[in-house]
Amino acid sequence: MIRTPPLPPARRAAAHAPENADDLAETIALAESLRASDSPAAGLARAEAIWGRVPPDDAPVRRRAGLLLLDQRYRAGAWVDFVELALELLPQLRAEGPRSELIDLLRQLSIAASDTGRYEVALTAGQEAHRIAVEIDDVGRISLATNALGCAFERTGDPWQGERLLVEALAIARTQDQPHPLFVALNNLVAVRIGQFYLRRDAQALEEARAPLREALPLALEALAQARASGESFRTLVALGNVGEVLVGLGDIGAAAPALDEAEALARGGYAAHLTRVGCSQAELALARGDAAAAWERLLGLIEGAGNEHLNTRLRLRHALWRTASTLDRAADALAHLQAYLQLERQRSMTQMRAQSELFVTRVEAEQMRLEARRHHARARELEADTRRDELTGLGNRREVELRWPQLVEQALKGSGVLAVAMIDLDHFKRVNDTHGHGVGDRVLVAMAALLRAHTRAADLVARLGGEEFLLVLPDADTERAREVCERLRVAVQGHDWEALAPGLRVTLSAGLTSGPPAEADRLTRRADTALYQAKSQGRNRVVPI
Ligand code: GH3
Ligand code: MG
Ligand code: MG
Repeated sequence: MIRTPPLPPARRAAAHAPENADDLAETIALAESLRASDSPAAGLARAEAIWGRVPPDDAPVRRRAGLLLLDQRYRAGAWVDFVELALELLPQLRAEGPRSELIDLLRQLSIAASDTGRYEVALTAGQEAHRIAVEIDDVGRISLATNALGCAFERTGDPWQGERLLVEALAIARTQDQPHPLFVALNNLVAVRIGQFYLRRDAQALEEARAPLREALPLALEALAQARASGESFRTLVALGNVGEVLVGLGDIGAAAPALDEAEALARGGYAAHLTRVGCSQAELALARGDAAAAWERLLGLIEGAGNEHLNTRLRLRHALWRTASTLDRAADALAHLQAYLQLERQRSMTQMRAQSELFVTRVEAEQMRLEARRHHARARELEADTRRDELTGLGNRREVELRWPQLVEQALKGSGVLAVAMIDLDHFKRVNDTHGHGVGDRVLVAMAALLRAHTRAADLVARLGGEEFLLVLPDADTERAREVCERLRVAVQGHDWEALAPGLRVTLSAGLTSGPPAEADRLTRRADTALYQAKSQGRNRVVPI
């Protein structure tokens, strides 16, 4: 685990004092663009340095630099620091949205927190992510949040409940065309089943203990195929590591070796935590091959650098050291590692028992029933509110805008008093219909509605005014803030995987926006419409404020 102590406030203040805001923005943009190509260590160092220079009162820069650093800490497996920063940034993200980003952060927080033993944080973050994903009806993210909850359960010592949740997450993911939730669900389910194997192997006959591995293998291979198709090396590393670990556990030496060699080569790209995990699998493989001396050598190297590794990895290492030492007839070493293993195991069960008693684990089940109930309740209310909804997309319609307007104005007055309105229209939508058919056109509108929901906050109003024209009303947001929201949305729409709907399909939007006071609906929407007209005449695929 990489620990980078945050700079103390005094040094932070001194560090940013002579800062030029444009320079900092440029540095952040550069770091963002290097995100994928940097090694995790270099990316992390860069992001940490940027974070140290952020002026505490510059909210937008703080958000950008914070999200960048979170991403890097997550990649590098710096869980403790990740949790700390995520908790610090959450209030801002809750207030500003978009909800999709909020869900993603909560989900990662949940995973990182359960890996560092902060189960309370893990469960509440997972639940919040789940709740918001249900609210915005984002099936992919519902799956991902269910996943995070499943992992939290596994870590608190209930791999069976964890497995049930992960199976559910996988089933949900399979109803979607999105590769990411499916990949995550597959891999986590595999990891949980590997964990079950480790729990069972000292308690049952080996063949019996291997049952979860046999179930895991096809899923691990499916994840690997998907990772290779995506061309992302980090994904491939994760999937290969799992495949190798499963195969070693199953005793399939011939198949495990190439998978682990490839995983190891990828892990050398700077993924320290994965390197240890894969190294441990390699040692177990050597042991299974009868080369205990090689296994011993490797394990000693790993245990030296592994003080801060994930508890599961340390347990695995000790277990392997014990078995290897026994094979080599090193009685004293075997005993020492067995004792270390048992001590870790006791430590783990103690933490887990405490967590279970503190959290009263059934709370989550109760919470889920509550969510179910709420979903039904919401459906019933929706039926009642049908006259205010657009049938195709489920968004509000013109009537909804009329009825909600006074509320939105009131809400704006409670905050800064400003209220922004954006008129959004898809570009050349007629061509979409003409080229791909009306059915595809309809599905584009539905997908657009989902993107709109994901990029707004709960307090915002999203409506379809007709055709391919949408209205956004953002209480407590000025023109600049609305421009940011629309710009993010524009980029998301442009980058969305429309090819999944129809080969060759591309969709972009134009948006015109403005803000009040004065906050009369007619006046604001007319002004936004004028801005939209300008966006169209300036060449489309752009956001024009007025
Ligand atoms: P521009 O960029 O200037 O907005 O070009 P455009 O083609 O998008 O503009 P225009 O307003 O001329 O065309 C809108 C099209 O939207 C016409 C109509 O066929 C289509 N449309 C309207 N409602 C629906 C709907 O419910 N479903 C589908 N599939 N198409 C619709
Ligand atoms: Mg149009
Ligand atoms: Mg139109």
